[in-house]
Amino acid sequence: MTIRIGVAGIAGRMGRLLAEEAIAARAVLAGGIDRPGAEPPAGVPLLPDMAALAGVSDVVVDFTHASTVAGHAAALAASGKAWVLGTTGLSAADEAAVAAAAARIAVVQAPNFSPGVNLVLALAERMAAALPGETYDAEIVEMHHRQKVDAPSGTAIGLGRAVARGRGVDLDTVKASGRDGHTGARKPGEIGFAALRGGQVVGEHTLLFASATEHIAITHRAFDRRAFATGAIRAALWAVARPPGLYSMMDVLGMT
Ligand code: NAD
Repeated sequence: MTIRIGVAGIAGRMGRLLAEEAIAARAVLAGGIDRPGAEPPAGVPLLPDMAALAGVSDVVVDFTHASTVAGHAAALAASGKAWVLGTTGLSAADEAAVAAAAARIAVVQAPNFSPGVNLVLALAERMAAALPGETYDAEIVEMHHRQKVDAPSGTAIGLGRAVARGRGVDLDTVKASGRDGHTGARKPGEIGFAALRGGQVVGEHTLLFASATEHIAITHRAFDRRAFATGAIRAALWAVARPPGLYSMMDVLGMT
């Protein structure tokens, strides 16, 4: 069976690469949606909305903007089609809408679809379990291009969640993001975040564990967005045959 892939945000940086990678994977590029006036890649049908795109697709790959998530979740849940969600910067309400959709359709959601980052996420959890928060301060530093609108990056938050999981704590209770001014001393067990923005950096993440006697750092650098696009199309082909549920890229890679 040839799988029909729809792309939400088809005129964007990721959307254009997703269109190329869908064709390279021998899927049918069913069409795309974007904001009014946006120019899709030549020859790709532009559909009026998510319901119409879902109607012609077996799976929709969505890299748009957080403001679209609740609407896309409702439209895709009603359509019964699978959803690969790469958009970042989601609010708690957006996450709840994704979870509600996942009760009815297969959803693969990942802050980062590159296989290398998912390996780093798995390592982060194991390192955090072995390096207790009272002794090893966990800090996450990320850098991205100047156009990025959310901070810390979805991947940085994913790394923080992995560390928190490894330590059996809730990230929201130990997160220290964007320190500025008289912050007081670092609290034991904090997971710190710092975000740099500049130039055209595709994505750099370093997770550092710092104790009084040693530092351990693990760094991932993405040189080309295509790493995310190939991973997301791989997730799309995987998602089509899955029962409803909320899946991660680690599920797709068989790492869970
Ligand atoms: P971009 O701005 O180049 O592209 C986004 C596209 O979505 C644009 O063409 C825009 O017009 C379109 N769009 C915005 N609102 C829309 C709406 N209401 N309906 C339809 N289309 C709409 O951005 P990008 O670099 O391609 O990134 C898009 C998203 O994907 C961001 O949230 C980014 O952080 C995320 N991202 C995730 C990963 C990952 O691996 N999960 C990787 C890269 C980027």
